[in-house]
This record gives sequence, C-alpha cells and structure tokens, in this order.
Amino acid sequence: MSERALRAEKLDAEDELAGVRERFALDTVSDHAADAAVVYLDGNSLGALPAHVPGRVQDVVRRQWGELRIRSWDESGWWTAPERIGDRIAPLVGAAAGQIVVGDSTSVNVFKALVGAVRLAGEGRDEILVDATTFPTDGYIAGSAARLTGCTLRPLTPAEVPAALGDRTAAVLLNHVDYRTGRLHDLPSLTAAIHAAGAVSVWDLCHSAGALPVGLDEHGVDLAVGCTYKYLNGGPGAPAYLYVRRDLQDRFDSPLPGWNSHAEPFGMSPAYEPAPGALRGRVGTPDILSMLALEAALEVWEGVPVAAVRAKSLALTDFFLECVEAYVPAGRVECVTPSAHEERGSQIALRCSDAGDVMKRLIERGVVGDFRHPDVLRFGFTPLYVGFADVERAARVLGEVLAEAAGTAVF
Ligand SMILES: *Cc1c(COP(=O)(O)O)cnc(C)c1O
Repeated sequence: MSERALRAEKLDAEDELAGVRERFALDTVSDHAADAAVVYLDGNSLGALPAHVPGRVQDVVRRQWGELRIRSWDESGWWTAPERIGDRIAPLVGAAAGQIVVGDSTSVNVFKALVGAVRLAGEGRDEILVDATTFPTDGYIAGSAARLTGCTLRPLTPAEVPAALGDRTAAVLLNHVDYRTGRLHDLPSLTAAIHAAGAVSVWDLCHSAGALPVGLDEHGVDLAVGCTYKYLNGGPGAPAYLYVRRDLQDRFDSPLPGWNSHAEPFGMSPAYEPAPGALRGRVGTPDILSMLALEAALEVWEGVPVAAVRAKSLALTDFFLECVEAYVPAGRVECVTPSAHEERGSQIALRCSDAGDVMKRLIERGVVGDFRHPDVLRFGFTPLYVGFADVERAARVLGEVLAEAAGTAVF
C-alpha cells in the first residue's frame, strides 16, 4: 500500500463524521467496475440516497395517500410541509425559524426573489446586477425579471460588483459558490457592499447549502434561494427553497401570488391578500411526494454540525489536490478551483483538454464525477458520505486514465 493510501486509512479512522456514511445507501456496485463500490463524487449534482428514505416514501404513498387520502392534508401534515421543512433547512444555512419556505424549483424561486427584490428596492432604482459566470438558468431568469420590472440587466463578475453598485442599483443576484469552478464568493463583504449602496441582495446557495456555513441571518442577507437535491440529498427534482429575511417579509411582494400564499387560502376570495411571514413565498399546491422525501432525507443531519462538515470538506479537497499532484502526469490538468480555503467550495474542478472522454473512462472504472462543457472535470466532495480512501482512489484512477489517454494521443 502506498504512503498516501495508508494515510487515507488513518484519516478515515480519525474522521468524526465517518459514521454518518452508514445513513446512506451506498453499497451499490457500478455496472462496469463489478468488484469495487463506486466512488461517488457527484453529490454536487445529485446527492446520494439516504437509506431510510425509500421506506418513508412508501409510507407516504401507501398509507398517507392510499389509506388516509384527503385527510392527509391535515392529519399527515401535508398542508404545513413547506414551512415545516423550511425550518428544518434553516439551521443548515444559519437562519432562525420562520424565514424559509420549500417549494417549486430553484429557477422559479430565483424569479420570485429577484422580482421581489426589485419591488423592495423601490422607486428610482432600475438596474439589476447579475453574476455573468452564473449557472445559466439564473442569468435567463434575471434577463426576464429585468424586462418585466423595466430594469437594465448588467452582467458582471462578482469581483466587479462593488465598483458597479450605485444609487440606481435595485438588486444583485449572486452565486455563493460557482457551479463550474467551485469558487466560494465572499458573501459577508459583498452583502455589506450591496447594503451600503441601498440595494437588495439575492444569493443562490445551490452549491453551498449543506457543504459549508452560510450565515444568512448573521450577514443580513435579504433574500436567498437554493436547491435541495445537491448537498441536501433530497432526491431528483426535490423542491427548492426561498429565504426572506424576517423584517422584509411584510413588504415582500411575490410576483407569483397563488392561493397557497393567501392569508386565507380556503376563503376562496377573488381579492389577493398575502399571508404573513415566509408563507407568502408559496404559490400553489406543493409537490408532496418529493417534499416528504426531502423531509425524510434531512434527518441524516441529526447531530451533524455544519462546521464539522466544512472542516472535513476542506480536508478532503486538500487531500485530493495533493493526490492529483502526486499521481497525475505533470501539465495534464489545470486546477481552476482556488487553492485558498476561504475561496473554495466543496468541489474541485480540473481543466483538461479531453475532459469529456476522460470522465467517461473514470465512470467506467467506478469513479463518478461529471463533465462540464467544454473542458472541465468536476469532482464534488460530500463530507457526509465521501471518505479519504475514496479520494485517494479517485485521484489514483484519474492518474491512470490520464496517463493512458496521453499515451493514445502521443502514439
Ligand atoms: C443546480 C442549480 C440550479 C438548478 O435550478 P433548477 O431550477 O433546480 O433546475 C440553479 N442555480 C444554480 C446556481 C445551480 O447550481
């Protein structure tokens, strides 16, 4: 066994989160690498299945829906699920209860938050600043939100935001962690700069919630959205969430008012009157099956401090970078994730000219990451179920694949 493989064993033995892995159903074997369990480094795209979720979903379907039927809206707590599950996510993103509702997709919540932010900003402010390097859906929706609100859209990098802020800035939409490079942006200082200009901040937490501390309340973030199927393991298409800071809730004017966010939903009144609190972020009937799968999935966080998750995440990515340096032929990949801890999320992105082909071969050998066009290999490190031996194996297999692929290219 190599020195690094031995060290990985020792790190796994000392890992205080090692036991959390047992809460997941990970004993799957890939079709290709029939003799070895998969190293799953794609939890930043679709989190793994917590072991108890199938049984809970079965209960929701068979008993709550099948037997109780309509009674479940009340007796099984379906009606209040969006805010109940929001309160369960709240501590993971540093929010007190009563400020988060779950429902709809991230894309839809970006729309609610951004139009809501422009309306909060008020008269005379007619510019929306948006991260130009953002996940595409955020940019598309920001463009539409700008047209609907009569604002000008200004795409720029997060580093350019402070200088671009002014008394015409209405809202700023930023990603906490960049989905492609894994760069962590400085949420506290950017939020402070946005506030100093009198504008409203909207943060997209898709790649940070569940991977690192966010501190929404502590840093005075105005509005935030995020998805639950990445580091929160809610399942494919699990509903997203919307955070509206408590003191803004009375003024939050959703562009998608629905009967579920009405103060009296069963009053069936033709006139809209928003519910108090975070509830006004709701729209229509929630997708209960997905939502309750998410609620069950969140139980894996019991007794897991986010600070410990962050510490392990940094240790995992540090160790991966060290192993890549040792195992990968020099000059074959370039790391695009910042090396400074304060600028790194929970993924490592490596630029590589034949990244698509390389990722295919990695997956064939049981190391699952993903490929982002045109030349990025992404490896997500989910501290709840990824260990140091996984990291060592992933880097070792990557080194082998790259050495072979280079061989093919040369001869
Ligand atoms: C994953 C992700 C999304 C996903 O949006 P959906 O509406 O769930 O498809 C949006 N924004 C960012 C930054 C993401 O990483």
